Amino acid sequence: MSVRRIAIVGAGHAGGRVAQHLIELDSRCQVLLIGDEPYAPYERPALSKAVLAGEQAWGELMLAADEFWTAHDRLVRMTARVVGLDSDQRCLRLDDGRQVEFDELVVATGGVARSLKVPGGDLPGLHVLRGIGDCEKLAGALESGSRLLVIGAGVIGMEVAATASGLGVAVTVLDVSDQVMRRCLPAAVSQWLAAQHQHAGVVLKSQVGVQSIVHDGAVYQVQVQGLEGRCEVLEAEQVLLAIGIDCDTGFLEQTGITCVNGVVVDAFCRSPDASWCYAVGDVANCDNAFYGRPLRQETWRNAENQALAVAQQIVGAAQPYSEIPWMWTDQFGHNIQVVGLIDEADGHVWRGDLAQGKATMVLLKECRVVAAVMVNQGKERKALEALIRGRRQIDEALLSDVSVSLKAVAA
Ligand SMILES: Cc1cc2nc3c(=O)[nH]c(=O)nc-3n(C[C@H](O)[C@H](O)[C@H](O)COP(=O)(O)OP(=O)(O)OC[C@H]3O[C@@H](n4cnc5c(N)ncnc54)[C@H](O)[C@@H]3O)c2cc1C
Repeated sequence: MSVRRIAIVGAGHAGGRVAQHLIELDSRCQVLLIGDEPYAPYERPALSKAVLAGEQAWGELMLAADEFWTAHDRLVRMTARVVGLDSDQRCLRLDDGRQVEFDELVVATGGVARSLKVPGGDLPGLHVLRGIGDCEKLAGALESGSRLLVIGAGVIGMEVAATASGLGVAVTVLDVSDQVMRRCLPAAVSQWLAAQHQHAGVVLKSQVGVQSIVHDGAVYQVQVQGLEGRCEVLEAEQVLLAIGIDCDTGFLEQTGITCVNGVVVDAFCRSPDASWCYAVGDVANCDNAFYGRPLRQETWRNAENQALAVAQQIVGAAQPYSEIPWMWTDQFGHNIQVVGLIDEADGHVWRGDLAQGKATMVLLKECRVVAAVMVNQGKERKALEALIRGRRQIDEALLSDVSVSLKAVAA
């Protein structure tokens, strides 16, 4: 029985899950899991929510008990950063000088918090939030009565704003966009969410760009400019940069493996340039079989399910990957979930009244459900996913009738 050496680069959520599945699925796999964080693989969503709020310990985020990572002869976990790949020799170079040979490679490196390219945008005390270390540093700095400036009104920025506000911190969020969470939410839900923040005292500044950041030893001064050119200086003890991530693909440069918006992979998560190379999680720009086009997803469920798809592909039991995007966020006690692709829609209907704090916006294209946003209505998710997958034309009146269950409509 020949042993297959599978190297997984990145020991986060997706990389850790691939390792777990391979150990379970195939006794011929020798798994080398290489990650640059000093922690065993863990899930990240609570880092901007319960862990940051001090309501949950980060130890509870681990994918498996510590023993799992040492209990298997066929699994080796290495703490190091991969800095190079020799694709002819199939050999990885680690930052501590070690070299690791493999038969198949899984790239699971996720992304790094994007830096702000303005004077002072790289000051050492600025916060980002990707991992446990970042979360501990930010949590330690959020004192009640202090001021936090969040740059970027995306999911992480808005979640941190809500959590910090709950801790008694005076929060200001600024963004170049005119809408909070613009990439994820339609305007109506974005406006409703913005109102929840404002009601809690969070100051939202839209359509402003950061010009520079300076620190006088105690306070940051952030110079911002609005659309009409008016400049303003905002002050805060802490600043969080939350302007998105860049895929962490540096070690693949000059290897012939195409990286455009992540590692380009086919519907089986395999690089068209190297049949031994897969990508998974945030870093995978995958040809999604349901949409018939490339899609890169930065979500918990994608990390979870694509990891299983890749492990199955490696052991020879593959299905094309066809996950419909699903994400959630929790802010001020409200749960918002989004399924599908909101940009595809040309119309929508409401189920329920958002003013009552509980409603679903069903987004349609040519009378077919393409996406939905559930505000405190997560129980409708499965039926909505079935409707998206079904691609049937559906009567709008039926969809908006809350006396008719979506499960019945989808059946
Ligand atoms: C604060 C926060 C809150 C979130 N909340 C939600 C949510 O509410 N809902 C939701 O759906 N999703 C959420 N997400 C997104 C979700 O956590 C990610 O989609 C998921 O973690 C992606 O998994 P991944 O394995 O691809 O990347 P990661 O979990 O980021 O793991 C990548 C790992 O690779 C390591 N690495 C990178 N380069 C190298 C290298 N060269 N050598 C060695 N190691 C390397 C990194 O250090 C990291 O440990 C959140 C993310 C964050 C950060």
